[in-house]
Amino acid sequence: MATNLRIPGPTPVPPSVMDAMRREMIPHRGPDFKTLYLDTLRMAREAHRTDGDVLTWPASGSAGWEVAVVNLFSPGDPVLATICGDFGERFSRVATIFGLDVRELVVPWGQAVTPELLRNALARDPDVKGVFLTHNETSTGVTNPLPELAAIVREHGALVVVDSVSGVGGLPLEMDAWGVDFVLSGSQKAWMCPPGLLICAVGPRAWDAVARSAFPTFYWDLTANRRLAADGMTPTTPSLTLLYGFHTALERILDQGLEAVWDHHRRLGEFTRRGVTDLGLELFADPVYASNTVTGIMLPIDHSAKAIVKAVRDKFGVEIGAGQGKMADAMLRIGHMGWCDEAALQDTLDAIGSVLRARGFVPTRATVMASTS
Ligand SMILES: *Cc1c(COP(=O)(O)O)cnc(C)c1O
Repeated sequence: MATNLRIPGPTPVPPSVMDAMRREMIPHRGPDFKTLYLDTLRMAREAHRTDGDVLTWPASGSAGWEVAVVNLFSPGDPVLATICGDFGERFSRVATIFGLDVRELVVPWGQAVTPELLRNALARDPDVKGVFLTHNETSTGVTNPLPELAAIVREHGALVVVDSVSGVGGLPLEMDAWGVDFVLSGSQKAWMCPPGLLICAVGPRAWDAVARSAFPTFYWDLTANRRLAADGMTPTTPSLTLLYGFHTALERILDQGLEAVWDHHRRLGEFTRRGVTDLGLELFADPVYASNTVTGIMLPIDHSAKAIVKAVRDKFGVEIGAGQGKMADAMLRIGHMGWCDEAALQDTLDAIGSVLRARGFVPTRATVMASTS
């Protein structure tokens, strides 16, 4: 039985991307690499809707938090970390570890960071030099209203630093038009590649901040990375195989058209949410801000997420996610980003429904009525 991989990353890799990664190794200082890398970065800029720089490292997405902290700030700099789930918490922790003066705006899990909350937080902490935003909080299935939030941060004169690991490539992101200064992402989410490639997009205001940063850097030195990227090279040996894959994934996305890709994700999100409520289950996220790349499901209190994940795997060969952090055993998550369709999601929903029914779950009248109204 082939696995239906519906965790929120790593996500399934399409056959064309798998095929691209079968290519032989080449010299990373040679002409073929230069052509490949320049072309990859050009397409990546297009996919971020930016004329700024896009750079990569062999690393997972989490390294992007460190890249942002040590390149854009200096020890003691005041920053505002907005937190609506586990990944926002982690970003904040990285800044604290490096000695930034971190102020936090924390909202309950399942809720979004709203423009009003952000305005109030900036009024309380007017001196912050940067604001960390999670585009799409993968631990809860919430998409924050990024264009509005970025505009508020800009107006305030602070840097807009965005974790879009489970956003860009699947959800609308217009880096330049929205005034976003820095975007980090990882290859294994909406980019539909294997894990291991960190992608960072850097705008002009972020480069000004890089020039002022007092942190020492080596591996994560943005300036060195940019200098070499201009010439189609990387500071260290690149993940050639992942770049073969990323190149093909970007071609696939841009051939389809960014708007069409965003629309596809919107449809998958709606399909999943409808399916979840049809099962009589409750969505975890505030419906206004529900994510179109990952759906969080609130479990009835007498059910264990870990047990359901295991049963869905053992009986149906479907891999879904449990919760993260404090919600680890209290919610389920279904990923629907990258290479995904309605049929795979229907199988996932059927598997969850079947497992829950076998465990005595009966939808309450209220939830069934809510789903049919
Ligand atoms: C997955 C994810 C990360 C971490 O990425 P890794 O590749 O696991 O290091 C960070 N932020 C968000 C929003 C994510 O979804």
